[in-house]
Amino acid sequence: MEPNRDLAPRNGYTFADPSGVTITGRGSWESLIANLTEFRKRGGFPPGDPKTEIYQQYCNQFHEACVGGTARAFQTLWTASGNFNNRVMNWLASIFSAVNRRQVGYVSNEEAQRRARICVACPRQAEFLKGADCKTCQADSVTLVKLLTQHRVQPGETPVLRGCNVLNEDTRASIHLDQPPVQRDGLPINCWRKL
Ligand code: SF4
Repeated sequence: MEPNRDLAPRNGYTFADPSGVTITGRGSWESLIANLTEFRKRGGFPPGDPKTEIYQQYCNQFHEACVGGTARAFQTLWTASGNFNNRVMNWLASIFSAVNRRQVGYVSNEEAQRRARICVACPRQAEFLKGADCKTCQADSVTLVKLLTQHRVQPGETPVLRGCNVLNEDTRASIHLDQPPVQRDGLPINCWRKL
């Protein structure tokens, strides 16, 4: 398991060395690995395996931000299809897994803003999880959207972005993702996902 490089590290590029010293990297895991290697060399400590130790420490703390981490657990949780809430949660779980596996990337921030402007005015926007009798699903959706969008510029309209009741996707996240266009009954003519 290793950190998902599409996501900013939750606590920065840091490593709590067993010596008691916290090592930091400059903007990348490679920098952190190099600094830890250098620290141990200069201090006369055993070299260990900096890369493995750093990844293990981070992923033990933040499973959901690592490749092969929580994505699988979320997917198991939301396999049952059913109402709109479940369908959107299924999409969130599967797209999170796909992003983790680098099967889906991100569009530019400008493109995301353009999509947001279309979505907020679209009649196919629909509330989901509102009043749902499931605290776990609400928390899961917040976590997944946050992880998917944490390093993205958020459109000003974000508070009113909701689910899409044609595609069963959460548009808070979908506007940022590079998914293929689709042909689906019910998509408005100006929908940015329309083929
Ligand atoms: S139909 Fe298209 S434009 Fe409308 S909410 Fe869904 S994704 Fe957005």
